[in-house]
Amino acid sequence: MDWPELRDTVVACTACKLCEGRRQTVFGVGNESAHWMIVGEAPGEQEDIQGEPFVGKSGQLLDNMLRAIGLTRGEAEPSKQVYIANTVKCRPPGNRNPEPAELAQCEAFLVRQVELVKPKIIVAMGRFAVQSLLRSSEPIGRLRGRVHQYQGVPLIVTYHPAYLLRNLEDKAKAWEDLCLALEVSRPAAGP
Ligand code: SF4
Repeated sequence: MDWPELRDTVVACTACKLCEGRRQTVFGVGNESAHWMIVGEAPGEQEDIQGEPFVGKSGQLLDNMLRAIGLTRGEAEPSKQVYIANTVKCRPPGNRNPEPAELAQCEAFLVRQVELVKPKIIVAMGRFAVQSLLRSSEPIGRLRGRVHQYQGVPLIVTYHPAYLLRNLEDKAKAWEDLCLALEVSRPAAGP
C-alpha cells in the first residue's frame, strides 16, 4: 500500500472493536520522509477529537523536547520535521489500555508507516509502543539507555510524555534518551 491507500484503509478500518467508540482514526502526522519517527501509544480524548497524535499537554511537552534538539512537527525539511504515529489508531474507550488483540490487529498499519517513512531513527514512547515494536514487556526503565533495532532501524526507548507530566523526576532521563537518539541519528564523522 502507498500512502493514500494506507490512509484510506485506516480511515475505513473496522478490524477491531475500537472502531465502535472512535470519533475518527488518528493516522499520523509529519514529513513522510522524516529522518525521525516518533511512535506513541493509543489516541486519548483530544487526539480522538482533533485526529492528530500527541496533542494537549503531553503534545506540548513533546513539541518542547523536540524543539530543544532542533526538530519540529511543523513544516520543515526531512532532517528537521519528525513523523509521528501511534501504535493503535483508534481511541480505547475511557482511555483504557489497548488490549493485546487490538495491538496485534493494528500493528500492520504501523509496520507499513515505518516502511514508507524509512526513518534513520525511531523513538518508541511508552509501554505499548515498546510492546508492539520490540515484542518486549520489560519496563521502560530496563530498556531505555541503549540502542535497539526495528526492521534494521535504530530504535530508542523512552517514557511517554503523559507519564513524564505525572513523574517529573524522570524528565531528565527522557532528555538523556533524546540526546542518545540524536547521537545515533547523526552520520558518523569521517576520518
Ligand atoms: Fe482498525 Fe486499528 Fe482502529 Fe482497530 S484500532 S479499528 S485495527 S484502525
